[in-house]
Amino acid sequence: MQQGIWQRELLRVAVPVGLGLAAGWSAGYPLPGLVVGMTAAHVMSLRAMANLYRWSHRFGPPPQDSGLVGYSVDRIVRREKNLRTKLSQQARQLKRYNEGIESLHDGVLVIDADGYITNFNSAATRLLGLREEDQGQHVKNLLRSPRFTKFFDHGDYSKALQFDFQNIRPQTLMVQITQFGVDQKVLLVRDVTERKRVETMRQNFIADVSHELRTPLTVINGYLEMLQDMELPASLNKAVHQMSGQGERMQSLVNDLIELSRLESANSDNTGEYFSIRRLASSVVDQLQSYASNPVKLSCEQDVEVLGFEEELRTVLSNLLTNAYKYGGDGEVELRLSSAGQGLRISVSDQGPGIAPEHINRLTERFYRVDDSRESTVGGSGLGLAIVKHALEHHDAQLEIDSRLGQGSTFSFVLPPERVRLQ
Ligand code: ADP
Repeated sequence: MQQGIWQRELLRVAVPVGLGLAAGWSAGYPLPGLVVGMTAAHVMSLRAMANLYRWSHRFGPPPQDSGLVGYSVDRIVRREKNLRTKLSQQARQLKRYNEGIESLHDGVLVIDADGYITNFNSAATRLLGLREEDQGQHVKNLLRSPRFTKFFDHGDYSKALQFDFQNIRPQTLMVQITQFGVDQKVLLVRDVTERKRVETMRQNFIADVSHELRTPLTVINGYLEMLQDMELPASLNKAVHQMSGQGERMQSLVNDLIELSRLESANSDNTGEYFSIRRLASSVVDQLQSYASNPVKLSCEQDVEVLGFEEELRTVLSNLLTNAYKYGGDGEVELRLSSAGQGLRISVSDQGPGIAPEHINRLTERFYRVDDSRESTVGGSGLGLAIVKHALEHHDAQLEIDSRLGQGSTFSFVLPPERVRLQ
């Protein structure tokens, strides 16, 4: 194909030149004949080039040319056609994606590397009350909330953030951030106001019922205690003893439920106050030591002050130590405070029988207890570790459980650097 083009192109030059030369030769002027032939060939090329030049400016019907110019124009036209087809395919695809994003009930915001909004869908407009001119604004200016700002700046994007947001109306939003491309982010915003309302109703119901049960239980347990001190027939004595045990269990269950409800509904925007962690740890250890038969050891590398809620951390340490004492056999129990980078690691270890791997991830679920014969002899509500988990969330910490069957257990958490200061 290309060879044919070159041949035609050569012929286009050779024919006028040859004819000019032949005519000049026969007239006795070969040189002027050659010049005329060459000029004619050149004029023909120029005409083709002029056509090409004009076409390149107007892009109308392509110039008709059987030589190199025509062939090149043909190639350009075909390439342009392919490009147009691809572009329109891409445009259709982009339109489909945009329609998909538009049809979502969740708000979608695309943010550039510096946090400025480059695009958002209509659900975002509805949820956050955005306007067209908000494109180009910083996302922190539009989602004004200290919790969102903290999450956006230092957050762990592997988890979603739930926070209260006041815009057109009070809402509870759930935000998930995903990074893509070079430092770009997509924010997925979901309205969970209704879910939160139902959750709050559930929490309030449990808290109310628990509060209502507290007084009658105290009265019943008081009378049962009185009965235990009295001289009763042996059969009745056994029944009273059992009732008293179950009554105490119910009371501790009710207390745990109240504590859990309190922690769940606490305002998580508060950061608490500074207090000495060594003082707190030794007071919890002393308290446990007063009734535990196991030796309890406290090791503390260095005293630091912790920013948080002292009573919540007291509950955490007390629950972990009580578990270590309850389930950890007769071996030593250790409460250890050590540095973890700039933060503080607090761990409670025991030398008990350990926990099988399949239970470990479920231990912080409410009422989850390892189904084992040991539990029948050890009282517990199954709420202790759920309380620990919630209290630690208020301190930006997570419970880590390291345990193997026959090798004891270590329950630990790390308080982040912003909650720890040297005394
Ligand atoms: P409970 O009131 O039953 O102690 P928790 O939520 O504190 O409830 O603990 C849940 C379960 O985790 C316990 O029932 C027990 O089976 C297991 N567990 C907790 N701590 C330990 C430990 N140190 N060693 C072995 N098992 C433990």
